Amino acid sequence: MISYRMEPGSIHLVRLNTGEDLLEGITSFASDAGIEAAWLTYLGAVSRASLRYYDQDERVYRDFEVAEHLEVLSGVGNVSLLDDEPFVHTHAAFADAAGNAVGGHLNSGTTVWALEVRIQELLGPALVREPDDCTALSLWGGTLSK
Ligand code: ZN
Repeated sequence: MISYRMEPGSIHLVRLNTGEDLLEGITSFASDAGIEAAWLTYLGAVSRASLRYYDQDERVYRDFEVAEHLEVLSGVGNVSLLDDEPFVHTHAAFADAAGNAVGGHLNSGTTVWALEVRIQELLGPALVREPDDCTALSLWGGTLSK
């Protein structure tokens, strides 16, 4: 286990524009605002979703698209540092017109229809992603002193 003690920083409320890429929009906001650590939630609607599922046996992402209008039931994520740049990791649950849910790890290519995002900055030690041998993912593991 690795844990970090963080203090709450500013809360940013952000509305992304219609047609914007969800992941790139949040990432560029975090980068422009100089946010290196944060927790975030969002809701709204997208006109298409691009998602990933991590295959734990094969240790590869399986990408899939949902090319229809969807409600964003719940999006959650965080910001940490990967290669010295703010990196947004987010998962979301979506619903179609019948209320059926689909979700996963959000990928580039998810197009915003309307989106309201709450980003809570976290202040404390550097939250750095590093290669993890066990999962083959980049996980928190950076230095505990900043
Ligand atoms: Zn993920």
